[in-house]
Amino acid sequence: MQKPQAQSTTESTLQKIISHAKEYGFVFPSSEIYDGLAAVYDYGQYGVELKNNLKALWWKAMTQLNENIVGVDAAIFMHPLTWKASGHVDGFSDPMIDNKDSKKRYRADVLIEDKAAEYEKAGDETRGQDLRNRLARLLEANNLEGVRNLILEEKIVCPVSGTANWTDVRQFNLMFSTQMGAVAEDADTIYLRPETAQGIFVNFLNVQKTGRMKIPFGIAQIGKAFRNEVVARQFIFRMREFEQMEMQFFVRPGTQQQWYEYWKETRRKWHEALGLPAAKLKWHVHEKLAFYADAAVDIEYEFPFGFKEIEGIHSRTNHDLSKHQEYSKKKQQYFDNDLDENGKPYGNYIPYVVETSVGADRLFLAVLSNAYTEDEGVDADGNPKTRIFLKFHPSIAPIKAAIFPLVKRDGLPEKAKAILEDLRYDFNVIYEERDAIGRRYTRQDLIGTPFCIAVDYQTLEDDTVTIRYRDTTEQKRVHISELRSIISEEVSFKRVLEKLS
Ligand code: ATP
Repeated sequence: MQKPQAQSTTESTLQKIISHAKEYGFVFPSSEIYDGLAAVYDYGQYGVELKNNLKALWWKAMTQLNENIVGVDAAIFMHPLTWKASGHVDGFSDPMIDNKDSKKRYRADVLIEDKAAEYEKAGDETRGQDLRNRLARLLEANNLEGVRNLILEEKIVCPVSGTANWTDVRQFNLMFSTQMGAVAEDADTIYLRPETAQGIFVNFLNVQKTGRMKIPFGIAQIGKAFRNEVVARQFIFRMREFEQMEMQFFVRPGTQQQWYEYWKETRRKWHEALGLPAAKLKWHVHEKLAFYADAAVDIEYEFPFGFKEIEGIHSRTNHDLSKHQEYSKKKQQYFDNDLDENGKPYGNYIPYVVETSVGADRLFLAVLSNAYTEDEGVDADGNPKTRIFLKFHPSIAPIKAAIFPLVKRDGLPEKAKAILEDLRYDFNVIYEERDAIGRRYTRQDLIGTPFCIAVDYQTLEDDTVTIRYRDTTEQKRVHISELRSIISEEVSFKRVLEKLS
């Protein structure tokens, strides 16, 4: 019999989070009864609440707190020329390579980057950086044979077969395509959008004119995006169907650097306000920029598998709107009647754009990883016991409060249900009467409910209840009339949003 391999801590932490997410109704593999579909996931009853809260918070922070930012909800399907103009038809691809023995497919660039990281981890920073530079030069020159040679030279082997029996490196376009139209001959190839940004760019003038928007202004959107990722690993970190929250901020040429700095700071603050610790967030400034970009940075979060991108902030010049002007032959200009230093109107120009783009699913994984807590304690008999709970910021917790009658008789359920009825219009609250009260507390801890409210015999006499706080397990006796303000104080989006001003 083979000995089980010892798991590394990072793997086991991720595994614990994945199992927890599945067991407690946050994330399920898609169409699981058919053994799932690679890198596609469904959100369960608590997952959808958490994700909706994250999206609502982003939406409010971006639109409600900024009078010069409005939202749109563009269609997933767009005219095929959109993707010619954006460069996705010709350039949105990853270099892939197959191992002939294991038949496994890899991203060639990732194999080399992993090797570089290995050198760096072993203390050989120079060798790691040198390898990264060589890779960057080869990719820039689209020298795929060179990339393959580098894999061979570095003696990189397939982790499954252990061999270096590699195919050629080929470019693989990440867009999913389908046919629009009932008759095959007349059908046009259209794409499932690989990013939400283009739905904003093509609506730039619609929004600017109908909303009488004055530069600088932004357009925000939340929506699905689809990428046929070559290697999809790490749970919901890299999915083939995912959700983006993007905002394009249109600015006067020459002011883009200042807005880039502004959004860089503002977006990082937002993640911190949500409860992600500053020490687990870092910048990754892009040294190699896309030819049209003049600055780009990622906000990275320290997942159980290391620091990885959750959001990108990009200064994209006027590239996107210029390209749409070229392909659509419709002017994408703005008339700026503000006066320059010579007292003349700035006049017509194609605005520059600073983009902020965060994945809702990656953010979900970041807050879930951060919330997952194991507290070592002791049980009633003094034996060691681990309490697992999800320490979400109360504003994003799926359920805000659970209301329990101590027992299922003597009018306690009725009293508890009356409290539920009173609070349910303001908060997502639930009623729970099954099992012993300790088990009920545990179940709420596992889904991250910040408050549990217990109704007992004393409640019938004086209208007081015990309220238990998730993070400390502290219990307090309070009057029923105080519940609304206690809960609302903690769970209000205001708690997060006020940290942004
Ligand atoms: P990566 O380098 O990890 O592939 P990217 O640089 O291609 O990401 P962008 O195109 O900048 O990502 O997309 C913006 C955001 O969308 C990312 O920061 C990420 O949060 C999210 N995102 C991108 N691809 C995926 C995916 N396959 N699954 C989940 N989220 C994604």
